[in-house]
Amino acid sequence: MKISRRGFLGSAVATPVVAGTLVAGAASGAAPTRRGAARDIIVAAGNGLPYLDRAYALLTSGGDTLDAAIAVVTGPEDDPEDDSVGLGGLPNEEGVVELDACCMHGPTRRAGSVGAVRNIRNVSKVAKAVIEHTGHVMLVGEGAERFAVAMGFPRENLLTERSRKIWLLWKETHSTSDWWGPGPASPGWRPPAAAREARNLSPAARVDSLYARAMELGIEPGHGLGAVRRVLFPPTGTIHCSALNARGEMSGITTTSGLAFKLPGRCGDSPVIGAGCFTDQDVGSAGATGSGEENIRVAGAHTIVENLRRGMEPLEAGLDALKRIVRNYNGDMTRLKYIDMTYYVLRNDGAYAGVSLWEGYGPTEPHHIAVHDGTKARAERTVALFKGWSDEFPPTPSLPPERATK
Ligand code: ASP
Repeated sequence: MKISRRGFLGSAVATPVVAGTLVAGAASGAAPTRRGAARDIIVAAGNGLPYLDRAYALLTSGGDTLDAAIAVVTGPEDDPEDDSVGLGGLPNEEGVVELDACCMHGPTRRAGSVGAVRNIRNVSKVAKAVIEHTGHVMLVGEGAERFAVAMGFPRENLLTERSRKIWLLWKETHSTSDWWGPGPASPGWRPPAAAREARNLSPAARVDSLYARAMELGIEPGHGLGAVRRVLFPPTGTIHCSALNARGEMSGITTTSGLAFKLPGRCGDSPVIGAGCFTDQDVGSAGATGSGEENIRVAGAHTIVENLRRGMEPLEAGLDALKRIVRNYNGDMTRLKYIDMTYYVLRNDGAYAGVSLWEGYGPTEPHHIAVHDGTKARAERTVALFKGWSDEFPPTPSLPPERATK
């Protein structure tokens, strides 16, 4: 509709709006919805379980909800054995670790985020520093790294020897026609025809050949099959945590090294406010782990919090976000089989749910939500939208069962 200047002025005169006053009904979307009394509770992705006790102690001794959530997620960030977050995270396709994180502080209604940060371990804390020391919400790449250094975070090499060697194994595996891997002068070199044959090996023989190369590269025997698995099925992996206290204050945070062997500069959902994490303490908090690209397309965490606001229970709110992912694929199960997503949902009265698209990666690796609400830190199975296990992507036949260990 075309509005003439005269018509526009005429309508403006007819409906005077005083600057700063609310248009009727404009506040309804932000209306607080509390179902019951708030309580002290922390929920997190399954890998947060070992850190819930220390975080809960902080929360119940009057600590800030964001600090309590950070006490959980810095556990995996600092753990070199966890190769999905922080130190020791699996690197991008160039062998460089790039980390993402975002957080929301409910009491002050502020948000901070960093993406594709190199050389800084605790990006969860850097995301918080963005809140406290800038007027921005999101910093990425080199600028984010320089900001972190200015804030006193040490630069360090985040690549552990094991992560580096797993990357090297992956790199060599994807390089029959370049100069990575053994050259003609090396004992392990094979002429091009033999190398092509090696690529067409049966799954079991391929595992054996990759395992042998992993040993040659010096990967510790106890981690050889884990390395092979990571090469065949580049993993995702992340931690989210949401915390609520008895005063009704809430915060949420998500941190990750993202998809292994990703393109440099790739950001998944974890640094995206509204996708990897969203908190509105008038209603609740939600976060995500899994297929970042899928979650961004449904703004998962924000969708869930808005579902809570409209009155859905946490379980229903999370399942609805998963159904939106299914809708994006028109229910095509041949594609959805390779996608996985887990949401962690916490309402502002302490009601919570963990939901996932599939039950997990396999019977030995079901998805969990870790919970501490005063009794004991515990891991509970998520409620899955689909029965069964997601397939790993790229689609390669399963490892022999006795070897399918992480
Ligand atoms: N969501 C993360 C990402 O896409 C990975 C994960 O949660 O496993 O980077």
